[in-house]
Amino acid sequence: MANGIILMKNASQLDKVDSTPRYLCQRCGNCCRWPGDVRVTEEEVGKIARFLGMRETDFVERCTRLNANRTGLSIIDKPNGECLFLEGVNECRIQPVKPGQCAGFPNDWNFPGWREQCEAIEVT
Ligand code: SF4
Ligand code: SF4
Repeated sequence: MANGIILMKNASQLDKVDSTPRYLCQRCGNCCRWPGDVRVTEEEVGKIARFLGMRETDFVERCTRLNANRTGLSIIDKPNGECLFLEGVNECRIQPVKPGQCAGFPNDWNFPGWREQCEAIEVT
């Protein structure tokens, strides 16, 4: 977690942003390490479970938890606080089917001060 600041991975509470400017992810992996919810929709649960070769019920039981405001599921964290699916510094084990919340940051949503935590480069 950068600078000890508690940040939310939770897109639903945060600012939806205009489509411009656009930012290009530099794959620093910071957004996979800060605390908060990595939300998964019901549809995403199915996709991720299939990708991992797991039954949905096993995936839900072993890889998810109730999110902070108890409205759905989030991917669990490792004991060190990073996302369960982060491998090494910046590899996502479920990259082809990662949740929309992950894919949408920072262009579709972000939060005040996100530029200090994210290494994405402005491209437009
Ligand atoms: S699912 Fe992948 S992209 Fe999303 S927080 Fe976890 S490791 Fe990062
Ligand atoms: S913090 Fe920003 S640059 Fe780093 S992986 Fe996440 S979106 Fe990409």
